[in-house]
Amino acid sequence: MRASSVEQAILETLSKEHSHLTSLQVFEEIRGRLPAVNQSTVYRALERLVEQGVVSVSDMGTHAAVYELLTDGRHHHLVCQKCRRVMTIGHEDVQSFFNAIQEKNHFQIVTNHLILFGICDNCQENVENSRAEK
Ligand SMILES: [Zn+2]
Ligand SMILES: [Zn+2]
Repeated sequence: MRASSVEQAILETLSKEHSHLTSLQVFEEIRGRLPAVNQSTVYRALERLVEQGVVSVSDMGTHAAVYELLTDGRHHHLVCQKCRRVMTIGHEDVQSFFNAIQEKNHFQIVTNHLILFGICDNCQENVENSRAEK
């Protein structure tokens, strides 16, 4: 099997799902279309796509790296540590922060998928409510 056909199947899967998938989820999706493919082939193809900057890989706190297509433009995420809700923020929200760091440190940032962990507004309210009840 040609590596390029596996890469093509991965790109199609990621663009169809339009979300973050683990390598196992990508593999399971692709196996339906390319029955001869094995998990390590998929994993290596994913790694190549990450190196090419076509796909991002992140740890979103689930203890499994997730992959996502980057053609939708640079974006970042806020991940709630309590309910695991994932919010997406545009790159413009962090651009000035990136610029300041780059200037100050003469450092060129290549991170294209930033994950910030915290507590979402729902969970903050729940904490306040449970305090009020006591
Ligand atoms: Zn993302
Ligand atoms: Zn939450």
